[in-house]
Amino acid sequence: MATLNSQATVSECPGLWFEDGNIVIRTTSTQEPLIRTLFKVHKFILSTHCTAFSDLFSGGPQTALEIASERHGDLPIMDLPDDENDVKHFLKALYYPDETQQHLPTSFDGRPKIDGAFPPSYAGVLRLATKYDAQKIRKVVVRALQMQWPMLLSEWNAVQDSYVVPETEALMAGETDLSHIHADPAHAIRLGTDLDVPAILPVAYYDLMSIYELQSPDAAEAGESRQAELSVLTNAELHRLLVGRGALRAWVRQRMIAPLRTVLPHSACALDGACAKTLQAKLGEFRTGLSGGTYACDPVAWLKTASEVCMLGTRDEVACVHCKSAARDCLMGLRYELWTKLPQLFRLDHLVPAGWGQEYEVQF
Ligand SMILES: [Zn+2]
Repeated sequence: MATLNSQATVSECPGLWFEDGNIVIRTTSTQEPLIRTLFKVHKFILSTHCTAFSDLFSGGPQTALEIASERHGDLPIMDLPDDENDVKHFLKALYYPDETQQHLPTSFDGRPKIDGAFPPSYAGVLRLATKYDAQKIRKVVVRALQMQWPMLLSEWNAVQDSYVVPETEALMAGETDLSHIHADPAHAIRLGTDLDVPAILPVAYYDLMSIYELQSPDAAEAGESRQAELSVLTNAELHRLLVGRGALRAWVRQRMIAPLRTVLPHSACALDGACAKTLQAKLGEFRTGLSGGTYACDPVAWLKTASEVCMLGTRDEVACVHCKSAARDCLMGLRYELWTKLPQLFRLDHLVPAGWGQEYEVQF
């Protein structure tokens, strides 16, 4: 019977095979056909980035690694139990920093370059950076995740704004499935949960919930849509999503019955209180216009637009500037309240950092 060794295909990884390397890393596929991939790299690079490797290499020539029986030419072979692609992505992150920084802003006001491959393309890097204690690489990836699913509402506004142009372009090109221009929140939940980045979870759950509230029941009439890879989630995570969705809808029902009643008319109202009726009617109309799925889908976005609608005026409209501003501030306050409640609604408050979502100065 042939041994496993004789059946395995062995290949050198292009781009990660350095002639002057002094260690060979080897990965082995866990399923047939057996594929062994070799990476000829430098101990110095591995040690510089990863505490785990510097510990391993620091014992001089008598280390377990140096006296290992298997060698590739003169060089010791280090077997890693990890997936070949994870190792490939991780080593690329060590040797080619651009690989992990493409999702970070490149200019003063630039936004990360995000597409449907984010964050799965970073999963291997984050997994191994965590496992082998490569702190700097881990920080870069965690930062990219936190920019996409931030703790602060002001940063979430910037994320949403960054989609306006690519979404418009895609829709004008006749595309309706917009998944390829959006990051995938299901994968974010997977990474954030497994690799200890809990701060991104409330917004990742919220983002995921919004995607599925938008789905049209009639496939033929489906408008713009997004998909997420739900299969990466566990039953417990899908349960959390469902419970959080219910809690969020309950909050909307309770807090949004007549949100302006308590703040209108403003004490300095110039029109003897007539504004309250005008603004409440305006909000009611706007609410009806966003009936059904869209309203339920993204109340954080809805409250932003609703607050802007309050400030718009028509020539015959009866509403003074004091009342308009009071209405706007009330809706923006509700929006901030909802945002800071996300960890509680998705039952994540015991996991996230204290003060999640709270801004020193709330920008209306
Ligand atoms: Zn007024």
